[in-house]
Amino acid sequence: MGRQATLPAENADAAIDTVLGFVNTRFDGKGGRIERFGSVEDFTAWADERGLTGGETVSESEVVAARELRSALVTVLLAHADHPNVTGEQLADAERFLNHAGSLYPVRIALSAHGSTVTAQSRGAAGVFGTVLAAANEIVQRDGWARMKGCCSPPCQHAFVDRTKNGAQRFCGPNCASRAAMRAMRERRRDAGD
Ligand SMILES: [Zn+2]
Repeated sequence: MGRQATLPAENADAAIDTVLGFVNTRFDGKGGRIERFGSVEDFTAWADERGLTGGETVSESEVVAARELRSALVTVLLAHADHPNVTGEQLADAERFLNHAGSLYPVRIALSAHGSTVTAQSRGAAGVFGTVLAAANEIVQRDGWARMKGCCSPPCQHAFVDRTKNGAQRFCGPNCASRAAMRAMRERRRDAGD
């Protein structure tokens, strides 16, 4: 009955929560989720809920940047799930965008004998974006990036962590998986019927 020396779950998953929390803010087409980055007010309310802006005001163009950063991340996560509609060109565009974002939103590295932490250097919206990029970087360092995926059942695109043994999960949950299976079956029947 010895106690296991493991990190508390919330510590282990803070980076994942940050990335999923940022990406899963768009209208999902089914009515389950609403757009959180639609306006300055919406974005500020979302960031304040998470204690991310530090009370700084956010501009209209920063909200546009938030949607662009989110869109690039969604493309990468969909590519991780082998989404058939994500082309190599779209992925390259998203990677270029993320690369550029990394130069716009500075992060701070705190190095110690035990390791390092990377945190956003700015406040306000730039701080939010830096925090998201630092969290994504941490997931990459932990070798978990390919397991961060976007649901392949349109129009869902909900981001999730693939915790299956074989790492072949492509849908966020059983509802989206069965919807996709039914759609595939209808397409097969239609193709066979003509
Ligand atoms: Zn889904």
